[in-house]
This record gives sequence, structure tokens and C-alpha cells, in this order.
Amino acid sequence: VLRVEGVVKWYGEQPVLDGIDLDVARHEVVVLIGASGSGKSTLLKTVNLLERVDDGQIFLAGDDITDPRVNADRVRARIGVVFQHYNLFPHMSVLDNVTLAGRHVLGWSRPRAEARGRELLERIGLGDRAAEYPDRLSGGQQQRVAIARALATEPELLLLDEITSALDPQLVGEVLDLVGELKAAGSTILMATHEMSFARRVADRVVFLQNGRLVEQGTPEQIFDAPQHEETRRFLARLG
Ligand code: ATP
Ligand code: MG
Repeated sequence: VLRVEGVVKWYGEQPVLDGIDLDVARHEVVVLIGASGSGKSTLLKTVNLLERVDDGQIFLAGDDITDPRVNADRVRARIGVVFQHYNLFPHMSVLDNVTLAGRHVLGWSRPRAEARGRELLERIGLGDRAAEYPDRLSGGQQQRVAIARALATEPELLLLDEITSALDPQLVGEVLDLVGELKAAGSTILMATHEMSFARRVADRVVFLQNGRLVEQGTPEQIFDAPQHEETRRFLARLG
């Protein structure tokens, strides 16, 4: 589904992505790990075209989305995104948040978008909260709505960036459980997280980044139990 080839990104004098090659296959869950500042968020942003690459190419289902002629909105409609801080619109009901993209990006009728929206809210266990405003929900519930919203357009790929790091510890589990359910249902996911136990449990592949370089990737067992590179070992050792 996704192919990242030789992607380079500079911020001023500093390379933050230094020749990244990465594939994500259909139905695969790939988890990015690495120290703060290693380039995880920047990589996710280049895939979502929130940041331009300075070199290299990114293909979504074979289409070169880094071609300057592509319609960025059309590409983004094919990718669901959730960030660390709930990005729900506070002045809209939960249901309107979830139906917005279907109606405005894909041109769905209100009944069609709402049928899809209600189905998603049922799926995340919040079917009875459709008419509420986001601030009436817990942080964990809000992140689950943000995930439902990202799924509303049936994206080919989900990008999740530290979606639990702003949550109280007791709310982290419900959000990560939902990601596990999405995996079981066949979603294709590229995500950054500091939750190593989750990465070990749910990832098909773990990718370790350091200073904008992809140092090492493999199954959770390979990366956590038998890392091949000194940098990976040092990073994991520091986590304790
Ligand atoms: P964290 O785990 O803290 O989320 P990260 O791996 O997501 O870190 P990035 O946010 O991708 O790291 O940042 C990579 C590098 O790029 C860092 O050195 C950061 O300071 C730098 N950087 C990020 N965004 C910008 C920006 N808009 N302008 C300049 N430098 C930036
Ligand atoms: Mg980040």
C-alpha cells in the first residue's frame, strides 16, 4: 500500500529524514519507535503531505504522491490521520465530526455519511454519544472518536502519531485496544508510539529511527529481543 523511497527532509541546515526506505503492505501494522526528535512525526507528515520531501518519493498504492502535480486533498482523503492531541472540532457534535469528511471531501449525502458515522460510533462503543459535543467525553473517548473520524472515508492507510501520549494512563488501554481491533479487522496502519509493550503485542513490524535514519526494522521479537545494532540496543536499554 505504501512505499517510501529514499526520502530526505531538511529543516534548515539539519537533515531530519536522511534517506528513509520503508514499505507498508496491505493489512500490515508497522510501528515507528525512536527517541524524541528522531523523525517519526516528520515521516508521518511527509506521507500525509503535510510536509514536502526534499528528495525521494512516496507511493500510495502505486501512485507517486510526492509528484508536485498531485491533488493533495485527494491524497489525504485516502489516508486517515490521528495525532497526539485530539483534533476534534469542539463546536461540532461527535456525529458531525465523524461525518464531515464524507460529506465535504467525498460528497456523500447527509444520510449516507450519517449511516456510516453511526456505524463507526457503534463500533467504538460510543453509539449513544453521537449528539454530544467533544468536551463532554473523556480524553480516551475523544481519541476513539478521532479514530472513527479517520476511518469514516474508508482510507487505504491509517497514520497514528502518539495517539495515547496526551492521555491519562488509565485511558491509554481503551485507545490501544481499539487499534488492536482495527488490526484484527484488516486495517493498514503506520504509527509512532512510545508504548513499547503495545508495539510488541500488536506490531507486525517495528522500525527503529535515529537522527532521521532507519537504523533497523524487524518483527517485535527481532527488535526487542535480539536487536542487531548498537544504537537500537542503547535506545532500548535506556527505556529500561
Ligand atoms: P517525538 O518522539 O518527540 O514526537 P519525533 O521522532 O516525532 O519526536 P520529529 O517531530 O519528527 O521527531 O522531529 C524531528 C526533528 O525535526 C527534530 O530535531 C525537530 O526539532 C525537528 N523539527 C520538527 N518539526 C520542525 C519544524 N517545523 N521546523 C524545524 N525543525 C523541526
Ligand atoms: Mg513525534
